[in-house]
Amino acid sequence: MNQQKSKAGAEPIVRMNKLNKHFGDFHVLQDIDLRVATGEVVVVIGASGSGKSTLIRCVNGLEEFQQGELDVDDSPLLPYGKATQALQKIRTEVGMVFQQFNLFPHLSVLDNVILAPMKVRGQDRETAVATGERLLERVGISDQIHKYPTQLSGGQQQRVALARALAMEPRLMLFDEPTSALDPEMIGEVLDAMRELANDGMTMMIVTHEMGFAREVADRVIFIDKGRIVEEGPPETIFDQPVEAATQSFLSRVL
Ligand code: ADP
Ligand code: MG
Repeated sequence: MNQQKSKAGAEPIVRMNKLNKHFGDFHVLQDIDLRVATGEVVVVIGASGSGKSTLIRCVNGLEEFQQGELDVDDSPLLPYGKATQALQKIRTEVGMVFQQFNLFPHLSVLDNVILAPMKVRGQDRETAVATGERLLERVGISDQIHKYPTQLSGGQQQRVALARALAMEPRLMLFDEPTSALDPEMIGEVLDAMRELANDGMTMMIVTHEMGFAREVADRVIFIDKGRIVEEGPPETIFDQPVEAATQSFLSRVL
């Protein structure tokens, strides 16, 4: 509980004020107010099509929004995706892991991991390799680093994707259904790596349908329905005593 209190009081790294986003006539995100404290793990749940991916993609500027305010690590993202230096900074500070692993197929595992640190951060190869090897060991891939992505299982590829994101030393990690494309027997190894990251104090926003995992790692759970945050709170409250009918109905379908 003490840990949660200190997180709640910590400086927010993500601040969204009345954020609104439209896809043409479709109002996909409506008046989203959201803060994520440094070191906090926020899990976003909700039905398919409710706007979860769009919400977290706004945080690193992959989706533009039209109204409201969003800043990440004190850098403002502007409406309509207006390109700024802040956007560049945010892209280098925010790591993302997607449902599809999106590894570069023509690069070895190690080269996938060292590419951005060398190109974007300007690290020399030796430094990038040392960090890359350490991170690949941390996610349990150290014996596969010279293989190509297609030679790995889905669970291994997703762990490489995680190591690749971590190699940029992100201040915040975003996850969009990182285990949804995996065979069931591989889900656990990816969740284990994420759990370890959470325990190490990484700030994380996670979209997932793994409710057991959410209950275990989340400091806060956010339920989103039709583009609105309907209810949020600690996992025990959201999962065991949801107040809103929409939350109750969603949970009765997935739990
Ligand atoms: P979730 O991740 O919760 O399943 P999404 O954020 O992917 O939901 O999508 C929310 C809604 O926005 C859905 O109705 C989806 O069809 C729509 N949508 C998503 N991306 C686009 C797009 N690029 N253009 C138009 N509509 C989109
Ligand atoms: Mg989605």
